[in-house]
Amino acid sequence: MQKKQELLKEVFGYDGFRIGQEPLVDALVSGRDAMGIMPTGAGKSICYQLPALMLPGITLVISPLISLMKDQVSALVQNGVRAAYLNSSLTEGQTAKAIANAAAGVYKIIYVAPERLFTPRFQYFVERAHISMVCVDEAHCVSQWGQDFRPSYLEIAQFVESLPVRPVVGAFTATATDAVRRDIAELLKLNDPVRVVTGFDRPNLYFGVQEPRDKYAAVTEYLSAHPNACGIIYCLTRKTVEEVHARLCADGYRAARYHAGLSPEERRSSQDAFVFDDVRIMVATNAFGMGIDKSNVSFVLHYNMPKNLESYYQEAGRAGRDGQPADCILLYGKRDVVTNRFFIEQDQENDALDEETRRAVRMKEEERLRQMTFYCRTQRCLRSFMLEYFGEPSPMHCANCSVCRQKTEKVEITRQARLVFCFVRDLRYPVGAGAVCDALRGVESEGVVRHKLDRMRGFGLLRSVPAARMREIMEHLIASGYLIRSGGKYPTLTLGAPAYEMLECGGTVTLYAAKEDAGKAAAPAQGNRRMTQASDPRLFEALRAKRAALAKSIGIPAFVIFSDATLHDMSAHRPHTMAEFLRVPGVGSKKAEQYGRDFLHVIAEYEKNSGK
Ligand code: ADP
Repeated sequence: MQKKQELLKEVFGYDGFRIGQEPLVDALVSGRDAMGIMPTGAGKSICYQLPALMLPGITLVISPLISLMKDQVSALVQNGVRAAYLNSSLTEGQTAKAIANAAAGVYKIIYVAPERLFTPRFQYFVERAHISMVCVDEAHCVSQWGQDFRPSYLEIAQFVESLPVRPVVGAFTATATDAVRRDIAELLKLNDPVRVVTGFDRPNLYFGVQEPRDKYAAVTEYLSAHPNACGIIYCLTRKTVEEVHARLCADGYRAARYHAGLSPEERRSSQDAFVFDDVRIMVATNAFGMGIDKSNVSFVLHYNMPKNLESYYQEAGRAGRDGQPADCILLYGKRDVVTNRFFIEQDQENDALDEETRRAVRMKEEERLRQMTFYCRTQRCLRSFMLEYFGEPSPMHCANCSVCRQKTEKVEITRQARLVFCFVRDLRYPVGAGAVCDALRGVESEGVVRHKLDRMRGFGLLRSVPAARMREIMEHLIASGYLIRSGGKYPTLTLGAPAYEMLECGGTVTLYAAKEDAGKAAAPAQGNRRMTQASDPRLFEALRAKRAALAKSIGIPAFVIFSDATLHDMSAHRPHTMAEFLRVPGVGSKKAEQYGRDFLHVIAEYEKNSGK
């Protein structure tokens, strides 16, 4: 079992597993089927890529997303893993070559489109190969209840059964209601799978709904308030994409456009411009984004209401994959309902279906459209509305959506924050957030007594602050990077750079807190927000420029080299040696070997020039 940790670090550069990953890895490695339902950005790929390296034979990953396959394979190759993909983007010759390589045992992981499974060439290969595992990505495509039903997914179970030896099967998706989960297990014929469902909540995403009189004005207002942010504007129709894009360009914004009516070359160049950070705004229909996993998208505006909450959550979820705060704002208009209804009626996508099934699918779509409309009109917390739709219990108040914000107020908490910082700074050794809260509130809890916190100067100085507010304050300080919470079973607190800065230079701290009349029991934002490290913005920009130059020269998207989170960590910790470089999360040995010198050089130059 030592081995999986070593591989995680060695190949992928990570020190530990994220929630949900380890049980899925263990299941698959031990030969047990598994089903992982985890939100976008949770790290599903590792759950099957790591077992793939540990199992003796080849792993097939079935994925419907051509662009994602390409990125995943590039990322694997960057990490030194032998991988390839087979889909309609390859020429006949390329396919033949890839299959010949596969048969010769060149690849450990092969991504394949579901439509390819029964082609004679692929069949010839799999009948002779040792397939240890089949993993189904975007597994919700197997269900008519899912938003992306693909009839070809229904053939996967038959494919698995046709193999000479049944491989272990894993199924993964981000979006699944109860009905979809049941369908995945049943239709893929999973054999008593280990099920892992991690929370759907993405606490770093702000959700908003507006019903503006002038949608375009609402967009430009947002864009001018966020001049450097990078994001996507989704529209329902090609025509709207064209209109919004043309107006934005005429108004001086650097924007690209993407929809199915453009030629493949136009689409590719638009996508590249966005992925490579040449433009910061992408105006698109839902044709864009299937498989885009650009990590630094900081807003997703919906110019129109999408057809259902599954689509909305998936599209909006393309924001903030790096864990940084991001905005998801839906600009609702009554006409959106009419357009969507028209689409449902016109939908000829599933012409492989018989009349009865088609009618059933249509009824489900209408119901989902109704729920989507309720979301736009609700007076409830938007996050809890959505989480409940996906079958997850949720706090009734998240403080990070447009409904909650209306019911929240901005409160200055500078004094409380300073007292917390002094207290944490003066600790003899780090302790957990609960003990700090108790001590400052003068509560002689078990933790306070055990760590002798009642003897500290700050003990009881925040006695007048109610416990719930105190927790809210602590969560906010952690989420904003003032306090750093360690990982592990017993997380402890230390001060982040912004807290030191505040203690030295002053400043104010504010918090959106539940208004008194909005319910005293209102819970603070939940979840494990990733915090912004004390990254040096100028060094970060220098590292980013290096990454962009390298990416361009090799012809791969920048985030495949390193994520923004990895660059932030680099700029915060400034490694000087290869050993230190390897300690940065997201740096495995192959990438260290390939890029280490370049990035270490940028850091050294930066320090030399800035005298830091
Ligand atoms: P998903 O497929 O669930 O949307 P990905 O597999 O693309 O998510 O992972 C999202 C991001 O999280 C990637 O940048 C990935 O490298 C990172 N990641 C995955 N697992 C870990 C881990 N154990 N520690 C740190 N980062 C991780």
